[in-house]
Amino acid sequence: MKYIYTLLFICISTTFFGQDTYLQCGKLIDTKTGKILTEKTIVVTGNKITSIKSGYVTGKKEDTTIDLKDKTVMPGLIDMHVHMEMETNPKAYLQRYTDNEADIAFNSIEFAEKTLMAGFTTVRDLGGSGVNISLKKATQKGKVKGPRVFTAGKALATTGGHADPTNGSKRSLIGDPGPKEGVVNSIEDAKKAVRQRYKNGADLIKITATGGVLSVAKSSSNPQFTIEEIKAICETAKDYGFHVAAHAHGDEGMQRAVLGGVKTIEHGTLMSEKTMDLMKQHDAYLVPTITAGKEVTQKATIDGYYPAIIVPKALEIGPKIQNTFKKAYDRGVGIAFGTDAGVFKHGQNGKEFAFMVEAGMPAIATIQSATITNAKILNMQDQIGQITPGFLADIVAVNDDPTQKIKTMENVVFVMKDGIIYKK
Ligand SMILES: [Zn+2]
Repeated sequence: MKYIYTLLFICISTTFFGQDTYLQCGKLIDTKTGKILTEKTIVVTGNKITSIKSGYVTGKKEDTTIDLKDKTVMPGLIDMHVHMEMETNPKAYLQRYTDNEADIAFNSIEFAEKTLMAGFTTVRDLGGSGVNISLKKATQKGKVKGPRVFTAGKALATTGGHADPTNGSKRSLIGDPGPKEGVVNSIEDAKKAVRQRYKNGADLIKITATGGVLSVAKSSSNPQFTIEEIKAICETAKDYGFHVAAHAHGDEGMQRAVLGGVKTIEHGTLMSEKTMDLMKQHDAYLVPTITAGKEVTQKATIDGYYPAIIVPKALEIGPKIQNTFKKAYDRGVGIAFGTDAGVFKHGQNGKEFAFMVEAGMPAIATIQSATITNAKILNMQDQIGQITPGFLADIVAVNDDPTQKIKTMENVVFVMKDGIIYKK
């Protein structure tokens, strides 16, 4: 018996501790300094980065060496705005009435894998039915190939607001959803809704501070929460270690959100200079989602793709997002990389980089936004977003130097998450 245990221990220890992986990197992006280092070797032990050596180093016989000498290597990318439960298609509005949670779950497995293969090793899911909480657990356990998920569970709205789950339904199905379902109409509701998200297993809170494009409702941008409700949400969220993300297109709702204490403004389409300055004062970040803006503008021109009520909203809001991003960046607002994947096809998250560069943000700054900035907002700044000893081994590579050719970010060729290689 003792012999079997010893044998077992040897097997386990060689599997988990004995083998290191040596990644020989032609170029390596240091996200902290914004510098590109050359000819380095990253040593990975288990799920951690253990050292970075100068030159191309090979380990012991039992170690694995990966040749990335003609690649540019960087930390795993982080997308602050995805929806892992859904993906745009002309039947999406009908699917709300036909799909069971199990259908949603099976679909999300595919979306999660596409996201990871695109180099996004961590995502913040800003709203679904709650299947996203199960997806988080499944990827944590390695049952599903997908990114590390931080999720809001179900987003919070007010009655008829952008994330009211029964918007657009016929009267017999509308019901009266409340805090449990993510609908808030008072300070008491606000507290309960946050606590319910905590109980459900969410990691953060998402609110819809203004109208939105893709909900079956008239306004794309009216304010939808009172400042008192937003304050109650943010204060309660703090008790649970949650930050709050606010979807917002209109300026008034956005200002209330920033003053109420949210950490990120999603989209920010009609943001005034006053709001930009408030964001700087309050250390709030803009999550641009330019890719989604372009996608809804294009899809709105296809007859019947969206319900009719959505088309004018998409054509009004979609084309403005990139320019607002430019203005906010130029004014010094903090930028947290995020795409709204799901509003366009999963796995195309990398398109956002070129759109940001097109609007005037330097390529290296876009990558820093998608790594160190996002890690900080997730309170993971000591674990992800840098290739540094002691950090989790989330490492990706592209063919070209993105500071020369940003489009290379749309074709990630190597993906390691938590020390496991998913794409080579
Ligand atoms: Zn979204």
